[in-house]
Amino acid sequence: MRQAPTFDRQGDQTGAADGPIRLPRSLRQQPITQQRKNFIPRNEGFVCDRCGFSAPPAQATFRNHCPVCLASKHVDGPTPGDRNEECGGLMPAITVEGVDPDALDLVHRCDECGFTRRNKIASDDNREAIVTLMKQK
Ligand SMILES: [Zn+2]
Ligand SMILES: [Zn+2]
Repeated sequence: MRQAPTFDRQGDQTGAADGPIRLPRSLRQQPITQQRKNFIPRNEGFVCDRCGFSAPPAQATFRNHCPVCLASKHVDGPTPGDRNEECGGLMPAITVEGVDPDALDLVHRCDECGFTRRNKIASDDNREAIVTLMKQK
């Protein structure tokens, strides 16, 4: 009973004795790189529905919430940035998650449908609003 330090890949090879794995044609024709994007970068200015602040495009990150009151809007579907959601509800930040103070996430929840999403805090977000949120935890 000894545990060999194997990687998952080595385990996968046990049944593949006859050469490289043949992928289905549909998969082979796709480049594998860049298929795993999980957000679409959007960096547009907007006017906040919650506090009326006119937010300029972000400096170094993607603007997906108000830098003053931290509210977002439910306009994205499954992929952040896809603008595929018709709900359009206001998404106030309800809490802050993370352990690294420099890499926290805001958690936004839609007032209309209850959908929640984590979003990175932007460099110019209102620190006081973030601290207030953290104290509410
Ligand atoms: Zn706002
Ligand atoms: Zn919604």
